[in-house]
Amino acid sequence: MEGEELKQQELQVKKYIRKSRYTKKKERKSKLSQEVQAHKQKISEIRHLEKDFICAICLQYICCSTSTKCGHAFCETCLTEYELLFDKCLVCDASIKNQEIRSCFLLDNLIQEFIERNHPSELQNFNKRKAECIQQRQKKQIQDWQIGTKIDIRDSNNIWCVGIISRIQPNKNNQAQNVVVCYVNNLNIQEELPCASSRLAPFGLYTSRKDIPHYNNCQNSSELVILLPTISDNVPQKLFIQ
Ligand SMILES: [Zn+2]
Ligand SMILES: [Zn+2]
Repeated sequence: MEGEELKQQELQVKKYIRKSRYTKKKERKSKLSQEVQAHKQKISEIRHLEKDFICAICLQYICCSTSTKCGHAFCETCLTEYELLFDKCLVCDASIKNQEIRSCFLLDNLIQEFIERNHPSELQNFNKRKAECIQQRQKKQIQDWQIGTKIDIRDSNNIWCVGIISRIQPNKNNQAQNVVVCYVNNLNIQEELPCASSRLAPFGLYTSRKDIPHYNNCQNSSELVILLPTISDNVPQKLFIQ
């Protein structure tokens, strides 16, 4: 009997070992598959993030991000140049007329961290582009706010016009906060804008450019003519706005 009992016990132990090995193997397998799944998820997330981090205009990582009214993000430099010629969002076709530039610092940080972690070799180019954007931004700032000074002002049709500062509203610290600007081509129209508005720029920055649309000096104010830039020497294409 004793021998029989011992045999039974041995069998139980063997069964137990085999079972525990099997469970361990199973656990290991499921852990591995979990890891594989997590990794796959990571790859898809990276791909997904990468897609969202790319500017649709320059097809590079969004640098100094700005968002449009419809919520799409582009590089500040790209969007500033793009809206000189177009008034619809490149991604969704929504109107981007008469909008202010809105920076998104959270997106900037996410993209910077993403490049540092995943594409460190891209960092140098990214930082160079960032420095260029900051330089452009400074060029666009009006330093001297004085009544009678000419400035560039972008009207509600996204066309840069020459304006004259007719009134300055200071803040508590006696710094210019808001300005009233008269349009030189139509002195009856004036607009009040915050000094920080992206629709204002130093005189000549945009109005002296030949590669962007301008109003033609026309007598009939109900029919505005915009001269669009042309690549060839052909007569500029004319666009009539009623
Ligand atoms: Zn861009
Ligand atoms: Zn859009």
